[in-house]
Amino acid sequence: MQTACPSCDLIIDIPEINAKQVALCPRCSHKIRGININHDTEIVALSLSALLMLLSSMFYPFISFSSNGITQTITLPDAARILFNYDSDLLGLFIDISIIILPMSLLIILIPLHLGALKALPQAVARKLLKFTLTLEPWIMSEIFLIGVLVSMVKIMSLAEVSFGISFFAYVGFVIFYISALTRLNRARLWSQVSPVTTLQNTSNTERAIDENIKACHVCHQLSVESICPRCHSKTYLRNPYSVQKAAAWLVTSLICYIPANLLPIMYTISLGDETPATLISGVITLWNSGSYPIAIIIFFASVVVPLAKALILSFLCFMVTKPANLHTKGYTKVYQLTEFIGKWSMIDVFVVAILVALVQLGNLMSVTPGLGIVFFTVMVLCQMMAAHAFDPRLLWDSPKIITQRIKHD
Ligand SMILES: [Zn+2]
Ligand SMILES: [Zn+2]
Repeated sequence: MQTACPSCDLIIDIPEINAKQVALCPRCSHKIRGININHDTEIVALSLSALLMLLSSMFYPFISFSSNGITQTITLPDAARILFNYDSDLLGLFIDISIIILPMSLLIILIPLHLGALKALPQAVARKLLKFTLTLEPWIMSEIFLIGVLVSMVKIMSLAEVSFGISFFAYVGFVIFYISALTRLNRARLWSQVSPVTTLQNTSNTERAIDENIKACHVCHQLSVESICPRCHSKTYLRNPYSVQKAAAWLVTSLICYIPANLLPIMYTISLGDETPATLISGVITLWNSGSYPIAIIIFFASVVVPLAKALILSFLCFMVTKPANLHTKGYTKVYQLTEFIGKWSMIDVFVVAILVALVQLGNLMSVTPGLGIVFFTVMVLCQMMAAHAFDPRLLWDSPKIITQRIKHD
């Protein structure tokens, strides 16, 4: 199968790989193709199990919290619903979408997709369905929500008695089945069911796709010289248009939000009528003082270090685009892939606040309400995810002079 590496643009002809082999790019070590096994039946079974688990986690008690003889029990949809009551509609909507609606839609589509629907449906419908399915995945945050639940439990364990309900265990089951299904997903195989890869003939004397004005489709990885991908009908570009400008714009927005996200309280704790604000840092300090060192370190990294490090790394990469490729470019590509991967893990604190707000509602005795800081924090993490997504790592491998001429003609 012929393809161009999505990280460095090297044209590669991948031979048929064996069941347990993985194809890596010889120049930048990017994983081009995963394990080549037909997992269709397993994916159907796992998706079905995940879907059943997710549905069962919706209707029964998720977590209970008792203090001074009063017990508060919440279900999974309550986590978002209570935020709506506090005028944090956007946050509530984000949580509903990222932990319930998107994973449910993805699982419902994965089942027919792996039962041969792509071959049975008209090509235009199959193409649209697969494109839609694959765009859902990066925005699903169920596994991060689960870690958020555990962190919030550690936070309130010292204040009150907490117990997990049957829905919590169903949600754990859902996350395990969902991740197992997703790791078996073979995107190249699905695209070949919509329409097989067509091999370009004039690539033998070029090293990189851009040298012959060949464009690699960012959706299905088909190589072509046309402006519309012949396989998935997406617009094709030599490089993501205005990649550096867009990444820089998202980064600046995220840095502007970083300030209020750290200065404003992310939540207020009301205990016996006294209201205490908590910022990101003060939350970490409280955890540290209570002796939960590992959790304090995780939250400190996820909420404070990672966003700042990510902004610095992406700004550095945007600058390195203006320099020709050198011995360190492979390292830069790896760092970029890492920032893209860890991006959504900064959301842990958002889920922690959401769960605490939903759960700790005992009036003046003890309550938690959301602060404006958490809204800025959510927007900041989303902007950073958009910045990493907008950046095109192939620019790091391009010669800056040639690229400006080529892209102008594109
Ligand atoms: Zn590569
Ligand atoms: Zn395509």
